This record gives sequence, structure tokens and C-alpha cells, in this order.
Amino acid sequence: SDLEYELSRRKLKTDINELWNYIKQNVNQTSPFLKDLKNSLLYDIDTISRRNDHWRRNELEKLSNYVQERITKLQNPENCQSARKLVCNLNKGCGFGCQMHHLVYCMIVSMATSRTLVVNSKSWRYVGNRRMSNQKSLWELAFKPLSNSCLDDSGNPRGNWASGPNRDHNKVLDLPIIDSIRPRPNYLPLTIPEEISSKLITLHGAPIVWFIGQILKFLMKPSTEVEKYLNQKRKQFSFNSPIVGVHVRRTDKINTEASFHSLSEYMVHVSEFYDRLDLFNQRMNKKETVKRLVYLATDDISVWKKEIQKYEEKGYKFIGDYEISNTATVGRRYSFDSLKNIILDVWLLSETDYLVCTFSSQVCRLAYELMQSRVPHIDRHMDFFSLDDIYYFGGQSSHNQIALLDHQAQSSNEISMKIGDIIGIAGNHWNGYSKGVNRETKENGLFPGFKTAERIESAPFDLFQD
Ligand code: GDP
Repeated sequence: SDLEYELSRRKLKTDINELWNYIKQNVNQTSPFLKDLKNSLLYDIDTISRRNDHWRRNELEKLSNYVQERITKLQNPENCQSARKLVCNLNKGCGFGCQMHHLVYCMIVSMATSRTLVVNSKSWRYVGNRRMSNQKSLWELAFKPLSNSCLDDSGNPRGNWASGPNRDHNKVLDLPIIDSIRPRPNYLPLTIPEEISSKLITLHGAPIVWFIGQILKFLMKPSTEVEKYLNQKRKQFSFNSPIVGVHVRRTDKINTEASFHSLSEYMVHVSEFYDRLDLFNQRMNKKETVKRLVYLATDDISVWKKEIQKYEEKGYKFIGDYEISNTATVGRRYSFDSLKNIILDVWLLSETDYLVCTFSSQVCRLAYELMQSRVPHIDRHMDFFSLDDIYYFGGQSSHNQIALLDHQAQSSNEISMKIGDIIGIAGNHWNGYSKGVNRETKENGLFPGFKTAERIESAPFDLFQD
């Protein structure tokens, strides 16, 4: 069946990467032999896959259009006065990526319960200075409105999520942040809508990431001014494919939520991307060598000042806004300029061919999600390398996998598995092994990543019910 074929095709690619990670860890000198062989295998998988590219692209496009139409309809009720609404306060005290994810969560609740989402952006952290308070909020300056007809949150009766069984009777419902929603509904990430799940699982290797990408596509429609700014920067940088996006997140994140990584750790994967591309080109009989272009986004100016030179000498070209890192670091002033800067970075990272970053940062996860919504509609879930975490959504329900093969622990830090066991996955060590807990035996430890597959949860979404 299509499903079997697609799952197997994608697993083949993932497993080659897992094998490669294992080899790199366990063979002292990774020989050009192994690297070329790996890339040659990947080339042939891509070639074999191309036969169905057209179908895959068409189907993903149809699914995207369907989701966008449904959200648009929800957001433009015939009568705003009597519409059922969900109010989302853009007041979460955190960075840009974190706030966009807060909005995504609100939209998910909207979609699952068929309520028009009304965003209260008055208290948004990016509020600019007081003189602006009678004017548009920075959200309104940066993005198009979420509705043409329904932006006001009035209506009766009004209540909050905690109002229990009466919740549904409220015309207007106020939503708390994801960390404090009680009772917790079953449709929050990493759950996907049941109504589109079988299609989506067939078409995309990370269904929840695609789904969140679609929500972001709707939420983050750049205003005319921001669109202009993005275009001007693309031109100024000569932003062109092929290009790898590198996001280096440091400053306040280091030693609180993430560890320090030198640029050289990122560049290992940039170089692997271009080596692969070179081999692909050879296999296609293309003679020219590819320019090694990198879009660099960072909150640490010293990456530009001290770390890129070594790679420029090796022929890499770095583009990006030097100024950005300053604005981000210096107190994050929450001006429209600093907002435009972070939007620019997220946007251009999402338009690269490959992302190297730390998934502990919401900035990079945001770019990765948006990447899935870019046109043409292609499954881009493998186009990244994260130096630390696997993908997650802040406040997500437990992330489970299922054992496809039995596994006998080979050492005391490994866990054993029986086919069908549910494994709560905590991370990938990027050496062939993942870490997690066997929910059957409660054992915690390492297991070979290729022996498990994602266990994808789905739940009904009102929005997709006809
Ligand atoms: P996280 O803290 O990295 O998980 O992501 P958040 O988006 O929640 O907060 C990070 C904040 O740091 C952003 O809102 C930006 O203000 C700033 N920042 C981090 N990385 C970059 C970057 O590459 N470019 C710019 N312009 N700002 C950044």
C-alpha cells in the first residue's frame, strides 16, 4: 500500500543516517570510503523516490489547502457578535519563538473546539514605547490580522477554561497558558487531528511538525512592511539556494537551558551537507562545484567576529545580519526593529535547504516548522541536524515510540525491549542510540534508534468534522 511504501522509504533514509551516526562514533577515522558510500546510498533512495514526487507534492498541497481553508472559515464567522470565541492573551513572558508557539497552542484549541481565535495583543511584550499605545500593537504592525471580520473578543456569557462542565456554554472562553491548562484536553501536541491523520502519516515523516507548520503559515502572514523588509534583505544578502541555515543560540540560554557549542560543531554538519550535494551532483554528471553558502543567525556577535574566519578561509561564505546579534543580545529591546530582525532570521532559516541548530531553542524549532509549510509542498522533515534535543513542543504530552524489534540490552546502560513495547523517548544521542524509558518494564536507558518507530496519537478536531 502507499502507507507501507512511504513508511519504508522514509525509514530507509532515517536508518542510513542512524547507521552513519553509529559509524562515526565507533570507527576512529571516518573514511571517505564510508562517507561516499553513505551519500551514494542516499542518492539512490532519492532517485527511487522521485518516481512518486509528483503525487506526493500534489497530495500535500491539497491537504495544505484544505487545512488553510478550514482555518480561514473558522476565523471569519458570518456573525462575529454571536460567534463562539477563544481568547488568547499574547502575554507569555518569553522570547519570540516561545510566543509564537503559545499562539499555535491557542489555535490548536480553537480548531479542536471550533471557536474563532481572538488574539489579545495589547499586552504583547513587543509593545514598543508608551507613545505608541494608542496606535497599532507591534503584532499588528508585523503580521496581517487573523480575521477580516472578527477581531473583537466581546460576547456573553464569558468564562475561562477552568469553568468545568459549563465551559461549552460560554460564548467566549479565556485560555490559560499550556503549562497550566486543567483539565488537559487530549488533542494537544504531539497529537494530530484524527480526520487527516491517515493521509498525513502517509505523506509526511513528522506529521505534527507539518501540522504546526500549517498553523504558523496561517498565523504568521507578514505585513506589507515586513514583506518588503524581507525582500530587501534577501536581495542584499544574495540569498540563494543551495544554502544551509545555521542558528547559534547562546547568551542567556547557556547553562540555563542549553550548553555551549562552538561554531565548529555546527560546521561538521554543514560540511556533510555540501559533501553530499557534491556527490549527488557527480552522480548526476554535473561538473560544477557548489558554492558553500551559509545563512548565519545568532544572538552572539562573537560568532561573526571570532569564529567564521577559519571557515571563510576554507571557502565558506556567510551571510546574515551582523546587526541582529547585537539587537538580540543588548537587552532585547523589544522595538519594532528587533522584532523585524528575529522575524527575518526565522524566515530565512526556514527558507534554507538544511538547518543546523539546537532544537532546545524555540527559534530553530519555529524555523523548522515553517520550513515544512514552504512551497513547493515537500516533506522536509529530514532537512536538519540538531546538536542537542530531538523535536518537541513546549508543554507537549508524552512522546512515545513503539518497538519494531526485540532488543536485548548489551550493557548496563541499555534497556531491553519486546516487539510492541511502548518506549517514552527522551532524546537521540546521535550515535545510533536513543534514550528513553520502556513503559512496560519501567527501565530507563539507551536503545538502538532503528528498532523503534514513532507512535502517532490522534484525536478528533471539530474543525474537520463535516
Ligand atoms: P529560545 O529562548 O532560544 O528557546 O527562543 P525564544 O524565541 O523563546 O527566545 C529567544 C530570544 O532571543 C528571541 O526572541 C530573540 O529575541 C533572541 N534571539 C535568539 N536567537 C536569535 C537570532 O538568531 N537572531 C535574533 N535576531 N534574535 C535571536
